[in-house]
This record gives sequence, C-alpha cells and structure tokens, in this order.
Amino acid sequence: RAKAAGGNRFEFADAEADARAITRHGLTNALPAALERGEFFIEYQPLVHMHDGSVHGAEALVRWSHPQYGVLGPDRFIPLAERTGLIVPLGRWVLEESVRQARNWQRQHGGATLRVNVNLSPTQLHHPGLVADTVRVLESSGLAPGSLCLEVTESALIGADDELLEPLRRLAALGVDIALDDFGTGYSNLANLRRLPVSVLKLDRSFTQGMQQQPANPVDVKIVEGIVALAHSLELAVTVEGVETGAQAAQLRALGCDTAQGWYYARPGAPDRIHALSLSDAVPTPS
Ligand code: C2E
Ligand code: MG
Ligand code: MG
Ligand code: MG
Repeated sequence: RAKAAGGNRFEFADAEADARAITRHGLTNALPAALERGEFFIEYQPLVHMHDGSVHGAEALVRWSHPQYGVLGPDRFIPLAERTGLIVPLGRWVLEESVRQARNWQRQHGGATLRVNVNLSPTQLHHPGLVADTVRVLESSGLAPGSLCLEVTESALIGADDELLEPLRRLAALGVDIALDDFGTGYSNLANLRRLPVSVLKLDRSFTQGMQQQPANPVDVKIVEGIVALAHSLELAVTVEGVETGAQAAQLRALGCDTAQGWYYARPGAPDRIHALSLSDAVPTPS
C-alpha cells in the first residue's frame, strides 16, 4: 500500500493505525472468554467527605488483567464491550461484585456506613433488565439500596426521553442514588436537571484542574461556585473528581463541594484498603 512522495511518515502512521486496529479487533474477540475466565477485576477508589476527610464510600473501577498485554484500563475495553453488547454481562458482573464487596465492608468493624458507586454505560441504561438485575443483586447480597450509587454520564442522558428515564426513576424510588458523572462537560441543560432522578453531581476533572493554578482559574471558580449553588438549591450533593493536590482540595472545599475523589486522597486499589482507610486517619485533609 504505497503512499505518495514523503510517505514514510504516512506509512508509519498507517502501520500504527493497523496495529491499533488489530489490537482492537483481538481485544474485542477476546472479551467474552476473558469474562468467563475471570480476567476482570475491580479496583476501588475512596470517596471522601471534604469537611473531615472521612471515607464515605468508594467507586468501583473495572480493569482487565490481560494475559498478553498486562493490566488494561477501562478506556481500552469498555468502548469495545459497548459496541459488542458484552457490556451487559460485564456490567452485571461489576455490579454484583461491587455490591457484594460493599456488603462485606459493612459487615466488618467500622465499615457500617461505607457505600459503593458503580458506573453504568449507555447500553446498560437501555437494557430492559437493568432494574430487575439491580434489585436481584441488592436482595441477594442484603445491601440496602441507599448504599448503592449508580453513575451515569451526563452525555448519556442528553435528550433522554421519559422512556429512558423510567428505569432510573424506578431505581431512585427504591432508594438507589443516581449520580451524574463527568458533569459540566456535555451540553449541560441546567433546566433539564429538574427532570432527572439524580441526587449527586460529579463535577468533571477539568474543573478540578482549573483549581491547580495559583490563584485558581477565576472562570472555573465562578463556574464551580454556580454549579454548587444550583446543586444545593436542588438538594443535590456535589462530588469532585480528579483531586490531585492539597491546593485543589482546599479550594474545592472552600467552594462548598461535599465529597471528593482523587489521587490526593488515594489511588484506586484493592477492596481491603477501603475498609482500612475508613478506620484510619490516613486520608489527608487540607488545612
Ligand atoms: P469515571 O467514572 O469518570 O472514573 C474516574 C476516572 O478518573 C478513573 O479512571 C480514575 O482512576 C481516574 N482518577 C481518579 N482520581 C484521579 C486523579 O486524581 N487524577 C487523574 N488524572 N485521574 C483520576 P479509570 O479507572 O481509567 O476509568 C475511566 C472510565 O472508565 C471511568 O471514568 C468510567 O467512565 C469508565 N469505567 C470504569 N469502570 C467501569 C465499569 O465498571 N463500567 C462502565 N460502564 N464504565 C466503567
Ligand atoms: Mg464514574
Ligand atoms: Mg467521573
Ligand atoms: Mg471522568
């Protein structure tokens, strides 16, 4: 596949694109067997109350321990699983596993209030079994619905009609929390917020990044102030993601954010660490 003069660069780019396509293809084909063989695992990242640094719960983040490529992050395979529909059984497994884990934390000394957040992709949202699966998983584990939070991205709900919102409304009515993930990146229709059965806004990492400059990016500060005010007036809690430094944490706490998540507090890790952190004062609080 020869290219015109000066094509070396293009050939190289082509070869890279080919390699990526082959990998993508291979990964896609390997997904179902990987699920059967138990190659997926979940890391948990603490969600921390900003006012005192105590651990509120954790977000479940799936990884694939690939026999050839090592540990792959969700960005490498969730889109593939979405396209092939494997996200439905994979997502069901993540839900089951995380809910069981949360119940385990709660049974351990000091873990009674720990909760778990689980991500839902658009295909899962459209899947007719969502409510029944969730109810079954909660019942068989004994976890209270209020200890589960399902995270849905804002973009997945853009233009959502009542039919799409119905399952989320039913889950919310059962007491499951619904969080709007990556909030502020889509075309946030703020008026639309009232229609959505959500109780938490998860402010996207890009706003957190704006808090890193000294002084913080004044536009981002204004936006976060506005979002927090709006959220609180609608009785929604605000979680911030991607907090990497004490400066960001202090700024976001001053702006009234309720809970936070990020490397500053802890990286995603093994489930036992969540319980250990909930018992210790090891989580840093900005002064
Ligand atoms: P998300 O739900 O917005 O999750 C937060 C992402 O930010 C995670 O990436 C987390 O590891 C990363 N993160 C946390 N703290 C920091 C920080 O301080 N700095 C930086 N730079 N990053 C931080 P991860 O684990 O790679 O997950 C990426 C996305 O994959 C998630 O974004 C979520 O949308 C999706 N995902 C993860 N697990 C699942 C799952 O079980 N099901 C579905 N459908 N999607 C999932
Ligand atoms: Mg999330
Ligand atoms: Mg997020
Ligand atoms: Mg994100």
